[in-house]
Amino acid sequence: MTSEQEGPELITASRSIADEVVAVVAHEGAKVDELARYGAVRAIVLKGRTRDPRALAGAIAALTREEGAELVLSMASKSVREAFARAAHSLGAPFITDCLELKVEGGVVRATRLVLGGGYAATVEADAFPVFATLMPGRVAPQEVGSGAGIEVREVEVNGPVNGELKEVRPIERSAADLTKAEVIVSVGRGFKKKEDLRLAEELAQVLGAEIGCSRPIAGDLKWLPEDRHIGLSGKWVSPKLYLAIGISGQMQHVVGIRRSKVIVAINNDPNAPIHKEADYSVVADLYQFLPVLTRKLREARR
Ligand SMILES: Cc1cc2nc3c(=O)[nH]c(=O)nc-3n(C[C@H](O)[C@H](O)[C@H](O)COP(=O)(O)OP(=O)(O)OC[C@H]3O[C@@H](n4cnc5c(N)ncnc54)[C@H](O)[C@@H]3O)c2cc1C
Repeated sequence: MTSEQEGPELITASRSIADEVVAVVAHEGAKVDELARYGAVRAIVLKGRTRDPRALAGAIAALTREEGAELVLSMASKSVREAFARAAHSLGAPFITDCLELKVEGGVVRATRLVLGGGYAATVEADAFPVFATLMPGRVAPQEVGSGAGIEVREVEVNGPVNGELKEVRPIERSAADLTKAEVIVSVGRGFKKKEDLRLAEELAQVLGAEIGCSRPIAGDLKWLPEDRHIGLSGKWVSPKLYLAIGISGQMQHVVGIRRSKVIVAINNDPNAPIHKEADYSVVADLYQFLPVLTRKLREARR
């Protein structure tokens, strides 16, 4: 089951696991031809109460039964996690979350997933089908396999019954940027004392042509940046050519999301901060003194 953005990656990943991939799209107006280009043989477009995880779970469970699906896959996201958990429970099926890798070997589903806050990877197995699973994003490069012409599309209405009434749906704030594709990321952490101080990072990002990213507390707790800017275990997994971690301590949950960066630069005033062990270049300095100078020098160099 896919959203529009994640479709190409999910279909490509699914093709490497299963012989036949049926795309279930949880929003109207999606470009299903695009999913066919990546190898989906059919598409089922869900309409109606797709934003209500309880109603969505009912539809997913019914489709899983009807299609005789053995694997029900999605990219990991909060809304899907709830709907999948409910659907899997109603079918008495296993549900494996946040898989780094998933294979089917000899009738057994074998998945590697991060555990204990991202510090360890565990292998789990399930041998009763269907199996529900969510995959960590950013691990498979989308690959087109055809023209996408003439895909068969079926529409399915998602409705109740539900135990409560959905009163309101508010869109979460999203940035225009897709951090998973950014070549340069300037990332900010709790070393910044006030929201207004992020201006220092924004000025640097402007000179470098970079996107702004952040640690989880900056988006999740302080709400200084939209949630889709947060990088790490529970956020985006990025792979830029250059990643600048500014005022970020380098806890494991952040670091797992940046390890595929080509070059990591850490700017932190604590010489013992764990981020320095991950960095190719370490600057032990106060960001408030260092950033204005760095930005000015880069600007001068570009003139
Ligand atoms: C299940 C789970 C999932 C999580 N997922 C994520 C995730 O996806 N992404 C994520 O980022 N976190 C995640 N976390 C949170 C993570 O454990 C850390 O709490 C978080 O990464 C810390 O953010 P930080 O580095 O910005 O803040 P801090 O750990 O507070 O570090 C701030 C750093 O700034 C430095 N600093 C302070 N002042 C200055 C200055 N003037 N100049 C330079 N440096 C300065 C300090 O030395 C310090 O190293 C998760 C936690 C859990 C339990």
